[in-house]
Amino acid sequence: MEKVIIIRYGEIFLKGKNKKFFENLLEKNIANAIKKYNCVIQKSRTRHFVEGFREQDLDDILNTLTKVFGIHSMSVAYKMPTDITKVAQMIVNDLPNADTFRVTVKRADKTIPFTSTEIACKIGGDLIHLNDKLTVNLHQPELVINVDIRENKISYIYFNSIKGLDGMPVGSAGKGMLLISGGIDSPVAGYRIAKRGMQICGIHFHSYPFTSHLAKQKVVDLSTIISEYCGIFNLYVMPFTKIQQAIHDFCREDFMITVMRMIMIEISETMAKRRNCGALVTGESLGQVASQTLASLTVTNSRVKNLPVFRPLIDMDKTEIIDIANKIKTFETSILPYEDCCTVFLPKNPIIKPKLETAVAEYDKIPDLAELINECIRNVEIIKITNIRQNVID
Ligand code: ATP
Ligand code: MG
Repeated sequence: MEKVIIIRYGEIFLKGKNKKFFENLLEKNIANAIKKYNCVIQKSRTRHFVEGFREQDLDDILNTLTKVFGIHSMSVAYKMPTDITKVAQMIVNDLPNADTFRVTVKRADKTIPFTSTEIACKIGGDLIHLNDKLTVNLHQPELVINVDIRENKISYIYFNSIKGLDGMPVGSAGKGMLLISGGIDSPVAGYRIAKRGMQICGIHFHSYPFTSHLAKQKVVDLSTIISEYCGIFNLYVMPFTKIQQAIHDFCREDFMITVMRMIMIEISETMAKRRNCGALVTGESLGQVASQTLASLTVTNSRVKNLPVFRPLIDMDKTEIIDIANKIKTFETSILPYEDCCTVFLPKNPIIKPKLETAVAEYDKIPDLAELINECIRNVEIIKITNIRQNVID
């Protein structure tokens, strides 16, 4: 009997006239994610079906699909031409181990002259006839046998379902630029915003030789992990050493981090616009450190001209962020002990409530900052992380 994967979606259902757009995007993302397995993807009115795979690839395919945003759940199903008199004999030898069972029937094909309950009784009776160790338990069965009778004379039979990630298909909510450090938070922020359908690329400020090549590699590795969820990921590595040195030489020590943030976000906005991104994304969480108090965020934000800045972790505790980092497998890489540019030149007492005018005055102390910023942007290094999946939009 042929095995197929049934894919169901969640929030896409709520979309009215635009539903087709979301469904087509999800289909493309699924196709790209599992391209190497040469499967066929079919679409019905409310779900997708993956067919034509090799049995030995099934677990890998399911594992890949559990990282595709927009999928609510999946089931591995047997596919057969609709014939309710044959269901029991077709599946009796393939049933998972159980003593008690229930049959649940969904009948989209209204040409069949029986109700769903009548069909379930018939199949249940046939099964007991074929295997007298089985008994029916409608309320607490060990095994639920789902029989899905479609309009096209095809039936699907499955025994359980696997949870997907939900969210929206990547590419359905535009493109954003993620400020990615080597820490725990920013990769999680990227994952969370991609879950809402935003395609992301990354920008990383690197202060070689104050920070090592290993620190950069760590960001590449983190980007590679999140690209399993969000597809091709372009990483823009910005040489930040001269700027950081200048901050160190000319700014008040307690304002060093504040000014660094102001410059980072300004450069990020310029880069984002050049790469057609409609938003900036950061891993900031309110009050987590001095640079993430309301006053500090106000100063940072004031340097952004017109792009929205999304902070998906703004209301989250560190422990909640770590839980997600563990789930998406970025945590182990994030805690490798390589310095980020935020940790070199770290002031002993960074200002917690910076005044905007003072921050701007400190910023203005850096001579030729505009030229330093231009030089940083000119010397960007672009790393394309192609992992396994393809982008839908460029
Ligand atoms: P993370 O764990 O993401 O490093 P953090 O708790 O260490 O966050 P900060 O160092 O204050 O917090 O950074 C706040 C945010 O600023 C980060 O989440 C990230 O979005 C951005 N950021 C910090 N350092 C860099 C960097 N070197 N390059 C790009 N973005 C950065
Ligand atoms: Mg950090």
